[in-house]
Amino acid sequence: MDKIVLLKMAYSILEKVTPTRLDCGKLCDKACCQGEDEDTGMILYPGEEKLLASQSDWLIINDLEGLGPLKKLAVCKKPCPRSMRPLACRVFPLTPYLTEDDILLVKIDPRARGMCPLARTMDKKELDPNFIRAVRKAINLVAKNHEIRAYIYFLSRMLDEYEKQPYFV
Ligand code: SF4
Ligand code: SF4
Repeated sequence: MDKIVLLKMAYSILEKVTPTRLDCGKLCDKACCQGEDEDTGMILYPGEEKLLASQSDWLIINDLEGLGPLKKLAVCKKPCPRSMRPLACRVFPLTPYLTEDDILLVKIDPRARGMCPLARTMDKKELDPNFIRAVRKAINLVAKNHEIRAYIYFLSRMLDEYEKQPYFV
């Protein structure tokens, strides 16, 4: 199915859910929205740059070089209109993950561990089950598109490398 159609369906599935029942932004002063510089942002799923092309008043989309199917980085200039936040923000602190045997999982994003209080234990029990279910549903849907699946596969290998790095608390 067309990736834009699938992305819109995923946006809709994740429109109302949040990682916890209460506003988790109060735990951390919205740490996941506090980019430090122009290189800090969300990697967009293939096709999202088209969906978000009209959002230039609050979002800059930069090209990424040398990262295979990970081609676009979005950087917020100011808080987003919630209905337009990218997929990576909607699923955070979870991430899709494809094993080398092509099994699709949803897991805590290891990149979230240093910033998100909900990710410190790397245990999904910290998250609202409704949120986890919605993320699974959205990810299973978008992964039906071969370009997005290739993106998730590449991202997963990057996450494998990331997890090999030492983590200090
Ligand atoms: S960093 Fe984690 S706890 Fe804080 S707002 Fe983002 S998802 Fe919620
Ligand atoms: S798009 Fe919205 S949710 Fe995502 S980092 Fe920017 S302000 Fe935060």
